[in-house]
Amino acid sequence: MIRVAVPLNADTVRDAPKVLLHDHLDGGLRPATVLELADAVGYDALPSSDAGELGAWFLAASHSGSLVRYLEGFGHTVAVMQTPDALVRVAAECAEDLAADGVVYAEVRFAPELHVAGGLELHAVVEAVLEGFRVGSARAAERGRRIRVGCLLTAMRHAARSREIAELSIRYRHTGVVGFDIAGAEAGFPPTRHLDAFEYLRQQNSHFTIHAGEAFGLPSIWEALQWCGADRLGHGVRIVDDITVAEDGTATLGPLAAYVRDKRIPLEMCPTSNVHTGATKSLADHPIGLLTDLRFRVTVNTDNRLMSDVSVTGELTALAQTFGYDWDRLQWFTVNAMKSAFIGFDERLALINDVIKPGYAALTA
Ligand SMILES: [Zn+2]
Repeated sequence: MIRVAVPLNADTVRDAPKVLLHDHLDGGLRPATVLELADAVGYDALPSSDAGELGAWFLAASHSGSLVRYLEGFGHTVAVMQTPDALVRVAAECAEDLAADGVVYAEVRFAPELHVAGGLELHAVVEAVLEGFRVGSARAAERGRRIRVGCLLTAMRHAARSREIAELSIRYRHTGVVGFDIAGAEAGFPPTRHLDAFEYLRQQNSHFTIHAGEAFGLPSIWEALQWCGADRLGHGVRIVDDITVAEDGTATLGPLAAYVRDKRIPLEMCPTSNVHTGATKSLADHPIGLLTDLRFRVTVNTDNRLMSDVSVTGELTALAQTFGYDWDRLQWFTVNAMKSAFIGFDERLALINDVIKPGYAALTA
């Protein structure tokens, strides 16, 4: 049988089934929605009142090289996400946008503690976001785009509410929350500060990922795995610091890199985001190329769709152009992500066998 593959470009990649494990709700708003929500609550600190200009401002801030300016962007999005209506809308549009991008399963994360400035209780924040995901997924299904969205609750690593947020994730584990995460500045805030939360989650037989090895090095990854027991690594890029590549291309893995690969620990890689924050110089220089060649459990993610002006389609297409990846490689990233999701084994298997594999078979046969 002759196999004639469909050409691989942004239009065809959009139609391929995709899986997203690392995406921040407050980093993925539509610029027009930021404007409308700001208007509704009387927030007047936005840098522009034009959606196009505002989108460009977020993108410029994301690779200005200044962390302060980058974080300023989140200041704006979080400021307009302080009411139940706003949270429902942002979550619903998130599900719709991901579905329109061809994502069939997504885990979207957010930090409830950042959305209580308007007087909401933590549980009300979570309920509004879960409601938004349900609304958005239903709207997408009406348009023939099926998506399932699971929610990860994030605790801020510089704060002291991780145990409380972990308990919240267990309270909502049967209604849409599938796991837990910690995020925020890595340097100075090691994951072991939150051991109490991680021990609690392990006792509850729950799942969690930890932002580790994004800009900060190996100690953060080591603590996340060997002290905290993380199921996945958010970014994990710096694991390359434990790999030496000889001139002839032979790679030697140090003990931690070997552990990560041997145990098939998923790396939630976010290539463009890493370029923008300066964790790596360019896409071509991004360790995802080497880690993929070495068959680590690599997954491809967006991180912040608004700030980096990215989509899963855009990331996969850019990687294919940069590293010469074909449909088989894109399917491999997708199956890797699905295997690494925090939903049950039978549900993961069903998505792999009923949705992902047939989707890619249609593109390559
Ligand atoms: Zn992140």
